[in-house]
Amino acid sequence: MPHNIAIIGAGPAGFYSADALMKALPECRIDFIERLPTPFGLIRGGVAPDHQTTKRVTQKYEKTAMMDQVNFYGNVEIGRDVSLMELRKMYDAVVLAIGAPSDKKLTIPGADKIGVHGSAAFVGWYNGHPDFRDLEPNLNTSTAVVVGNGNVAVDVARVLLRSARGMAEADLPNHVAEVIHAAPIIDVHLVGRRGPADAKFTNVELREMGNLNMSSPHVKADQMPDDFDAVLAHYEGRDHRLRRRNLETLVEFSTSSNKSKPKSVHFEFFASPVEILGGDRVEAIRFERTIIECGKIINTGEFFDIDCGLVIPSIGYRSEPIEGAPFDEKWGSIPNDNGRIDSGLYAVGWIKRGSCGVISSNRPDGVIVAEYIAEDIIPDPKKMGRNDLEGILKDRYLRWIGYSDWKKLEAMEIAAANGSAPREKFVTVEEMIAALDEAPVNEQCVQ
Ligand code: NAP
Repeated sequence: MPHNIAIIGAGPAGFYSADALMKALPECRIDFIERLPTPFGLIRGGVAPDHQTTKRVTQKYEKTAMMDQVNFYGNVEIGRDVSLMELRKMYDAVVLAIGAPSDKKLTIPGADKIGVHGSAAFVGWYNGHPDFRDLEPNLNTSTAVVVGNGNVAVDVARVLLRSARGMAEADLPNHVAEVIHAAPIIDVHLVGRRGPADAKFTNVELREMGNLNMSSPHVKADQMPDDFDAVLAHYEGRDHRLRRRNLETLVEFSTSSNKSKPKSVHFEFFASPVEILGGDRVEAIRFERTIIECGKIINTGEFFDIDCGLVIPSIGYRSEPIEGAPFDEKWGSIPNDNGRIDSGLYAVGWIKRGSCGVISSNRPDGVIVAEYIAEDIIPDPKKMGRNDLEGILKDRYLRWIGYSDWKKLEAMEIAAANGSAPREKFVTVEEMIAALDEAPVNEQCVQ
């Protein structure tokens, strides 16, 4: 009797879990249940459009998706189409791999003004995520401020500054490329509340900011530490080495005399946002100078403003609660014991541990959850997995997108690509369904 396992969410954490589960339990049947018609989660909707090499990891995920024992049910949303409680009655184990799709909110006065877009929304928009198709940010400004010093902040700054030529091989959707490349933005301020040694961006991403055709990086020499060892004292091992490299890169930026490019990214450290100023629309953002003592941020009472027409808080993501599972509102994630939530219910990826780590950080989560499931699972002959699921979806006249349907959509996206772009994405669920309706009917789908 096979073990029936459902993985909710077909992003990296889901795929690494499926891979590990097939090794730990070779007889298992795995069903991905994904609310979008498309697989790959943040690889498609979060990784920057000009980081196509990173996106190639989907080739590995595809091998998993094509295994006989793996099915993909796209366009099926837990809570809307089928409940978690129902799934737990159909499957021997359910793995939540639903990520952290929402913005951690910047809770300062004025954060709700027009022209303030959290990075989850803004990145989703420029990546053609259906949830953000209608964001329509107004980029008609010379100056944008990105709050935060993580990799997402660097991605956002780069995408705003890169030329159309620099983005030629990216999968920026046409309607987004038109807006970004017509925008008069020439200055992007990347502002961190801590110092350069504490910035969370990785060195490859930082160095990229020094290699843009149209933009020069600016770092204030007086914000750079004289003594690297002192500011890196509480970092160890790899972390210490990577942060030292960041400091070296930032010093290069601060001393470089080549500032002749027409656009600029300004690195500003030791500045905590306190208020967004303006009328209905953002006109400026106010910061308070900070100092860092024993790892703590101390406000100094000294303030300064940056005039701008766009603010992108890139301060991390949070998960959304799912009915039938516990949720910690404060941390924006599901309380769990290293991935175990409840009998037969598990968590992996950002819903398990918050929005930290790179793509490969999801791999160990998958290995751990597979070990736990292999230990815990007691196959129940009444739980029929996909047979039960398809029955319910058909009874409810719900249309799901199988993996072969996704492959048709993918082929259409590749065929629609302009020039050297890899694809022109479908950006709404409706247009994906309409496109499939014109393609040969998939026997698995209920019309
Ligand atoms: P992140 O790395 O956690 O960075 C968040 C930044 O926001 C930090 O600088 C943080 O400062 C700051 N912040 C948080 N709350 C703030 C507040 N209230 N006011 C001002 N600043 C605030 O998050 P992320 O950039 O969203 O990235 C999420 C994860 O995805 C990270 O692990 C990242 O490495 C990964 N990622 C990787 C890549 C890549 O590998 N190319 C690309 C994108 C994302 P503090 O340090 O003071 O908290």
